[in-house]
Amino acid sequence: MFEDRLNKIKSSIVAKIFLVCFVSVHVPLIALVTFLSLGFQPSALSIFGLVLSATLVGTVLCLYAIWRLISPLNRLASALKRYPDDKTILTLPASASDEIGTVTDIARSMLLEVEDLTRKLKHQASTDFLTGLGNRRALMERMPVIQAQASRSDDAVSIILFDLDHFKRINDEYGHETGDKALMAVAEAVKDHLRPYDYAARIGGEEFCIVLPRADMASALIVAERLRNAVAECVVEPLAKGRITCSFGVAEARQNERLQELLLRADAALYQAKHGGRNLVKSAQSK
Ligand code: GH3
Ligand code: MG
Ligand code: MG
Repeated sequence: MFEDRLNKIKSSIVAKIFLVCFVSVHVPLIALVTFLSLGFQPSALSIFGLVLSATLVGTVLCLYAIWRLISPLNRLASALKRYPDDKTILTLPASASDEIGTVTDIARSMLLEVEDLTRKLKHQASTDFLTGLGNRRALMERMPVIQAQASRSDDAVSIILFDLDHFKRINDEYGHETGDKALMAVAEAVKDHLRPYDYAARIGGEEFCIVLPRADMASALIVAERLRNAVAECVVEPLAKGRITCSFGVAEARQNERLQELLLRADAALYQAKHGGRNLVKSAQSK
């Protein structure tokens, strides 16, 4: 019974404030009763002095207790204000079990949900849903960062642009689903051949691009050749082994070259590979 009441008070900020005010208002009365019961001779002046000091003490205690009670609210308000910069609210300790504690917990879990959704949306926005590789938009964002790092460390950056050969025929003869499986198989072969800091994206229907930091033309050509062989080894039922092949164009980025220009040069090399009979690797002109 008593515990129930205590819990009700603990879970209500209004009840706590009421209790604090009630006790504080009665401090002068308590002081007076104590003073009289101790047998002091009361004079008008001493009673006035006692009541005045007890009122002051009661007021100070009341303000201090209320300030302590609402301090979690202040902490919550400043954590919410700072949230875009430091995200402290996500690590605020569990506070009292009253309304302020409830609001803090709800704010924290809502923001965690927002963080989680934002992470998922960012991932979706930069990922190709079919292959799990990056997409064109992510490549556009990533490339300047890679190039800036490369120019700071004076390293080369190369790209490999490649495209499935006669892919339309696979779709036409075996269906779109088999075509999709072929795209996924190619993506898996790509993933197996990347270093941790390489970046691969599907930038068009059946067109892929790999960015190779710290790789000059010679190294990129070796990677492309390996990849060409790996793709030709892909097995996707009911396609015959060797049916899936790709043509490759390789280009080494010039100092501060924009991705669009680099892609154009790699695309010209890819065009040569297609016209040279497909399933080939060609290097782009450096000028
Ligand atoms: P080439 O060797 O000259 O590249 O010939 P190709 O047939 O591969 O090229 P083309 O541009 O004529 O055809 C590309 C085909 O890719 C047409 C389109 O239907 C198909 N395609 C594009 N995106 C997807 C996709 O996500 N899934 C599937 N299954 N097919 C796709
Ligand atoms: Mg093609
Ligand atoms: Mg194409």
